[in-house]
This record gives sequence, structure tokens and C-alpha cells, in this order.
Amino acid sequence: MSQFANQAIRKIDTAKQLLLQAKRTVVLTGAGISTPSGIPDFRSEGTGLWSKSEAMEVASLTTFRYEPSVFFKWFRPLARQIINAKPNAAHTTLATLQKENFIDTVITQNIDVLHQKAGSENVIEMHGTLRTLSCTQCFRQVDSKPFLEPFVKDGIIPHCTACGAVLKPDVILFGEQLPQKAWFEARAAARNCDLMLIIGSSLEVLPVAGLPMHMLDRGGHLIIINQTPTYLDIRADIVFREDAADILPLLEKQVLTHAR
Ligand SMILES: [Zn+2]
Repeated sequence: MSQFANQAIRKIDTAKQLLLQAKRTVVLTGAGISTPSGIPDFRSEGTGLWSKSEAMEVASLTTFRYEPSVFFKWFRPLARQIINAKPNAAHTTLATLQKENFIDTVITQNIDVLHQKAGSENVIEMHGTLRTLSCTQCFRQVDSKPFLEPFVKDGIIPHCTACGAVLKPDVILFGEQLPQKAWFEARAAARNCDLMLIIGSSLEVLPVAGLPMHMLDRGGHLIIINQTPTYLDIRADIVFREDAADILPLLEKQVLTHAR
């Protein structure tokens, strides 16, 4: 067996031990978990349909307020990818591990609803969600479903059926505050867990990037599965540089075999 395979097996075994020993495990996911499902990380250079600087300008609250049509033009291909996307092996593994009580909470920086589509519960969405839209004038919140298809198919910009104003997807744009409720829930989850799995996040965006510190400061353990380095690699028990859709099913198999 190659040295690489040996090393990978040892790491999966250690991750399994940590998962079996943990009293409460929290998962924090970022764009990397959804790239195998075909959703580009619009915050990263070169992976999206626009450059990062263009995205930061167009996916901002200012553009949405003053030039909603420019925002919606940018958003349309992304919305199309999101509504067509299917959960990958990483999402479904997490949902299974959660059903088997190995995972308590999923905190995600993604807006693609793929954790919920895979069957995960207790999902805290730090950057909002595409499941709902809110009126910019009367603040009524509506299910996005009836509006998304005409928007994606024919470019029809969603408008409030009560007052006629533009409806804004409940996703957090650049220049917008994180949803307070989600933030408090995520912080509480991080403080109350003793194991955190970081999956597909480079931990570059504050304050979410600081969440693992709440757990590490209390002596918890950390597993990172991400293809690029993070500032917490040095504090992690294990770091996998592989694709989460490859690693997580192997880990699930180990954990469930052991548990049964
Ligand atoms: Zn309205």
C-alpha cells in the first residue's frame, strides 16, 4: 500500500475516534462542499461567472437598491445553478451522520439549501437562503418557489404581490450584516460543542471564520477538510486536503461500522 493511502487511512481512523468520542459535534461548511454539485464559489477569484471584484460590486446591497436589474442579471445564472443542483456525497453523508446522532448542528455559509435537500436538520444559514424572498418596501416575506422559475426561465424580476415593490432574495449581499438570529445560534452551537468539522471553507470571512475559536478555547477538537490552507490548520487535530465528497463517505463507513 502506498504511503499516501496509509496516511489517509490513519487520518480517517483518527477522525472516526474523535467523532465517536465527541459529546456534541458541529459542522461548519463553506462553498467548497457545494462545488462538486456544480455551484461556483462567487466569492473566489476565477471560479465564478464574474471576477471577484465584479461580484463584490454587483452582489452588493448598494447595487440591489439602486440598480436591481443589474443585480438580477448577475444573479440569474447562479440562481439557475442553485435550483438545479443536487446534494453530493458530502451533503448526504452529513445528513446520515446527523440521523445517527453523530452530528448535532450544521452551520453553513452557503445559500444553496443543499444540506436541507440532503435531509439535514438544524441547519444554521449564516449567509441567508434562497428559500425565501423579502419585500423591500412592506417587508413581507414570501416563499421563493413561485418566483424562481419565471425568473430563471424568462428573467422575470420578482415583485411583491401586495405592494408591487421588488422582492429581494434573503441572501446576505456584500455590505449587509449577518442575520443576527443565525449568528447567535451559531455562536451558541460553537460554544457548546467539543468537536467541530470544517468542510470546504477557507475560513477567510469574519465573523464566521472566528467560530471555531469558541470551541478551541474550551479544549475542543478540530477536523478540517478543505483543499486550500486555513489559518486554523495549525490548531487542527487532522487536516484533509482532499475533496469532502471523497473523504466523508469513507469516514461515514468507518463510524457506522464501529457504532453497530
Ligand atoms: Zn411589498
